[in-house]
Amino acid sequence: MTRHPNHPIDLRSDTITQPTPAMREAMARAEVGDDVFGDDPTVLRLEARVAEILGKDTAVFTPSGTMANQMAVRAHTEPGDEILVEANAHVYFYEAGGPAALAGVMCRCLPGVRGIFTATDVEAALRPPNQHFPPTKLVCVENTHNRGGGSVWPLERIQDVAAVARQHGLRLHLDGARLWNASVATGIPERDYAANFDSVSVCFSKGLGAPIGSALCGSRECIQRARRFRKMFGGGMRQVGIIAAGALHALEHHRARLAEDHANARALAEGLSKLPGVELDPATVQTNIVVLKVKGTPTAALAHRLDAQGVRVLATGLDTLRAVTNLMVKPEDVPAALEIFGQVLRTLV
Ligand SMILES: *Cc1c(COP(=O)(O)O)cnc(C)c1O
Repeated sequence: MTRHPNHPIDLRSDTITQPTPAMREAMARAEVGDDVFGDDPTVLRLEARVAEILGKDTAVFTPSGTMANQMAVRAHTEPGDEILVEANAHVYFYEAGGPAALAGVMCRCLPGVRGIFTATDVEAALRPPNQHFPPTKLVCVENTHNRGGGSVWPLERIQDVAAVARQHGLRLHLDGARLWNASVATGIPERDYAANFDSVSVCFSKGLGAPIGSALCGSRECIQRARRFRKMFGGGMRQVGIIAAGALHALEHHRARLAEDHANARALAEGLSKLPGVELDPATVQTNIVVLKVKGTPTAALAHRLDAQGVRVLATGLDTLRAVTNLMVKPEDVPAALEIFGQVLRTLV
């Protein structure tokens, strides 16, 4: 069985989603104004709503999650400072060198297990104030963790890390691009995670399915400072309520349905784990991301062969593939994708 080339099962990312008709309708009807002047009523509504969900004073709308994270890094630091990040964190791994180029900070990498580190790891990285050392200012946490395979941070672990960070006068930023997924997976409200952080970034354009947009949430003082860096980085936008309306629609209508993505990911992982050569423990799949290894096969070539049969996945390392369920993936796509995976893998052994 080969899928029609125009209708592949696209598991490369949860960023590939198309806006739904209802979302397009909401965007078409959006009231707008010049948001740099603070005049866009739809942006103001979105910012108020996301701040409310996260239990923070206020929020600022941004064109991307990368910008939201980099605004936070810049807002919490001065050039020459050091920040602590997990070695596979998006802020460090996927943001084009932003911390060095935009904030002028050094990244000190902490070792993580599926992206999750411990309070002891933070303590071990800290040094006493001394003229030799860059001042450490910020700890970044990513929940769920993208390269960790959509892993969810246990709340107690976050609380432990936050306690150590506060003890040493450090600030905390949460990259919550997929915080929605963590909350749906655990039942723990977003605000309970967010309470441990000075700033939190969230994405509307991943699992929630909006075409564009993220937000950075925090105290009034923090977000006011971050707004200046949004302008500096070129992210001050004008009649952007058209975009914010899609994000607002996604926030109100697409959060609960993430459970479907999680169920599809689990079913996919169960099936994949039974195929020849696949190394994958389905118990590690907690949300919408499935990371697998295939013994002895370069993943770029494998991804290419799957693509030719109508299943699109991403090679995220020499020996790792990533499949991400999303709004466009139906439950019946899972057995169809598994059949194609099976066919391609059986030709290899
Ligand atoms: C996707 C993602 C972001 C933001 O990405 P943009 O494409 O810039 O919106 C940030 N953090 C994590 C963990 C992500 O997966």
